[in-house]
Amino acid sequence: MADSQSTRVSTLQHHQVDAVIVGGGGAGLRAALQLAESGADVAVLSKVFPTRSHTVAAQGGIAAALGNVSDDNWLWHMYDTIKGSDYLGDQDAIEFMCRNAAKAIIELEHFGMPFDRLENGRIFQRPFGGMTRNFGEQPISRTCAVADRTGHAMLHTLYQRNVKANTQFLIEWFALDLIRDTDGDVLGVIALEIETGDIHVIHAKATMLATGGAGRIFQASTNAYINTGDGLGMAARAGLPLQDMEFWQFHPTGVLNAGVLITEGVRGEGGYLVNRDGERFMERYAPSAKDLASRDVVSRAMATEIKEGRGVGKHQDAVYLKLDHLGEEIINKRLPGIREIAKTFAGVDPTEAPIPVVPTVHYMMGGIPTNLDGQVVAYDGQREQVVNGLYAVGECACVSVHGANRLGSNSLLDLVVFGKAAGDKMAKDIAGQGAHKPLPANVADATLSRVARLEASSEGEKAAEVGQRMRQTMQKHCGVFRFPELLASGVDAIQSVAEQSQAIRISDKSKVFNTARVEALELDNLMQVAQATMRAAHARQESRGAHAREDYPERDDQQWLTHSLYSAAGHELQYKPVRLQPLSVAPFELKKRVY
Ligand SMILES: Cc1cc2nc3c(=O)[nH]c(=O)nc-3n(C[C@H](O)[C@H](O)[C@H](O)COP(=O)(O)OP(=O)(O)OC[C@H]3O[C@@H](n4cnc5c(N)ncnc54)[C@H](O)[C@@H]3O)c2cc1C
Repeated sequence: MADSQSTRVSTLQHHQVDAVIVGGGGAGLRAALQLAESGADVAVLSKVFPTRSHTVAAQGGIAAALGNVSDDNWLWHMYDTIKGSDYLGDQDAIEFMCRNAAKAIIELEHFGMPFDRLENGRIFQRPFGGMTRNFGEQPISRTCAVADRTGHAMLHTLYQRNVKANTQFLIEWFALDLIRDTDGDVLGVIALEIETGDIHVIHAKATMLATGGAGRIFQASTNAYINTGDGLGMAARAGLPLQDMEFWQFHPTGVLNAGVLITEGVRGEGGYLVNRDGERFMERYAPSAKDLASRDVVSRAMATEIKEGRGVGKHQDAVYLKLDHLGEEIINKRLPGIREIAKTFAGVDPTEAPIPVVPTVHYMMGGIPTNLDGQVVAYDGQREQVVNGLYAVGECACVSVHGANRLGSNSLLDLVVFGKAAGDKMAKDIAGQGAHKPLPANVADATLSRVARLEASSEGEKAAEVGQRMRQTMQKHCGVFRFPELLASGVDAIQSVAEQSQAIRISDKSKVFNTARVEALELDNLMQVAQATMRAAHARQESRGAHAREDYPERDDQQWLTHSLYSAAGHELQYKPVRLQPLSVAPFELKKRVY
């Protein structure tokens, strides 16, 4: 981001476009491409250069039942995803994603994405956790990859296609708030141009949030520093609910003390976890899938090994990921980035020694609720209602295909399948509209006073200090295993951090740097996500997927086969039923989840 300064937020500039998309990651770019190619005038706003979005960091791959390595079937993929979600995923959305997966991969291939190949020229596929053949029989190779840099290849491919299609990019612009009129319709966004400090009103017929995850609410995270949940904050402030926020995925293999991710592709290629005694302990926890069980299952097994004194390292707070037996050739060919990461962040060469790893926060299963067209939906206790003009796709959205636990390599797929569907729907919406609906009077007033609040205070703590307290609180009170007393005290603790975040100081003497302003505004958004997470986790009295409660160790389908909906106003929680009816096939029955 530009490290420029301005003493004060000043001019207000107006723009009109057909569609505005907040976020230049995989989700935003896939949707933008669909719109630009349909001839719509589309602007993509990104707080960082688009190809620096977190999608660029995705390593292991993207799932689709292509059947290039062995027979496969999208129904098997659908079954795995439903089971992986611990039955909280909506079966219609999961069918839509798995059915359209192969098409999405071929499309990316035709866009120029340089997938790894098999000897016979077909796209290479590797095994990933929870992906099986014939409804759970044994692990299957379903994940397409570009070495261990799949997201990099995908994001650059999509960016280049967008440049060709004349998508307009507003780079290093920070979206602040949604514009919502008295009918509840969304008419665009208010944004800060980071370099100049100017505030812009972007008036649009269709608005999309594609702002990615919020893993920075936790202390130990594989997420980029930019993953601050801005879209969720914007939605919450506009009076929209956040769905299933108690479900956060801890990835089993983050590098100890660094958080940097080691892809599940390592275990897909044959790497495995061992404890202090050199035991391959996953054989005890998941006799059939072993190291390729679902991420929540593996993370809990690791936490248990560590808790019971079988950890490795100086403080015995990690386990080892062993891959030296794969041989240098495979490691260099399929996992070159991992070798680099292990050397840099753990000081070990994985061709010779194991890597110390710990479960690390990785992915937000919850988000802004949408339908299959990416339209944001509100819920009145009986029925879902579309919020006119507003769409959400990608990690910030909850459609919900990942339910209580996402399978690795299903997120990149979610971005392109629903990015395309939402782009199509937006194009249709725009074509069906006449002139832009008029903006409300004083459209930017609330946003301007929120920004001005930051300038006013020359006292209080810095955003970084309050942010640190938030991350420590989340880590301590809302981790891999969740305890009733810690959750209860966590609700109070996070409330008090939220209050501190309202009285922070960003200026030193007369200068206000826009980067400091952005950091404080990001903290506002992180706090919304942290509040939603803690309160929803405290309320859900069962264990399901990534939400594992010590006091309620079992899944409870009678009471809790429901999506939570958190509203920021009054911190209220509501619940709505899971959609168990797929689009065209018979529903998958609820079963106990074993691997
Ligand atoms: C290290 C790592 C490895 C992963 N590996 C895999 C994998 O192998 N396979 C898989 O399926 N999934 C993987 N995932 C998950 C997956 O990569 C992400 O869920 C996905 O890329 C998110 O894409 P997105 O488009 O929703 O958001 P992002 O790619 O995070 O993009 C968000 C965009 O929003 C913009 N933005 C945010 N806030 C604002 C604002 N206020 N104003 C303007 N712009 C804003 C950002 O600038 C950015 O352009 C991985 C995740 C991580 C962290």
